[in-house]
Amino acid sequence: MSDLYYDLETKELLDLTLEDQASAIRSLHFSIGVTWCECHKEQIFYRADAMSEHVLAHDRMIGFSCKQFDNAVLAYNYFLARADMPPPKQEKPRAPKKIDKFEIPPSAEELKRLFDGRTFDLQIDLENRVGYRLALNALAQGTLRREKQGTAALAVIWYRLAAQLKQKYAYALREANDSEGADRAQELGAYYQQRLETYCATDVQLVRQLFEYGAQNRRVFYLDFDDERHNVKVDWR
Ligand SMILES: [Zn+2]
Repeated sequence: MSDLYYDLETKELLDLTLEDQASAIRSLHFSIGVTWCECHKEQIFYRADAMSEHVLAHDRMIGFSCKQFDNAVLAYNYFLARADMPPPKQEKPRAPKKIDKFEIPPSAEELKRLFDGRTFDLQIDLENRVGYRLALNALAQGTLRREKQGTAALAVIWYRLAAQLKQKYAYALREANDSEGADRAQELGAYYQQRLETYCATDVQLVRQLFEYGAQNRRVFYLDFDDERHNVKVDWR
């Protein structure tokens, strides 16, 4: 079985005060995604359609809090990205895109269901065992003695800074004949882009290491709010 670990970031922060979280998640825009699998190693994606096609070439998708969040963002953004593509030159209708023996389903709801059917969500599995939702950081600290590097809010800020500096300000400065300033804006934008990519890739590695630890040791650990370490038995394979 080919396993793929994945995580993605969005251009906007999810508003947790909204009552309808599912629809709030559907409206978020994909910024970047990272996957890791034995067969392709680490891959970074800038488009949801390319990432969707890559993940579907694998039998199982392993993530953290990914069923409700990542799978919805990926499925809805797949169709946004496709709609952005230039229209095909030929007149005849395009055949549905085939992934191995699969066709990409015609709607985002169905695509999300396809992802969900292949997904093993570590947060949901652990919630079923302990009765509440654990944070990835609490598990990374308890099990791997490592900490998450950033936050979802920082990822949104890094994305915006990178996009604005590189696309808007570098261009504007160059137009105004400040080429040194334009180079600086470009460099700083690249720096924030790198922070964003590293953050996302690190979370993918944490999920992978957490899963591998659990599969090997039949348990994982988390730190509670008092920094006490607790163990959870798992039967991951
Ligand atoms: Zn692969």
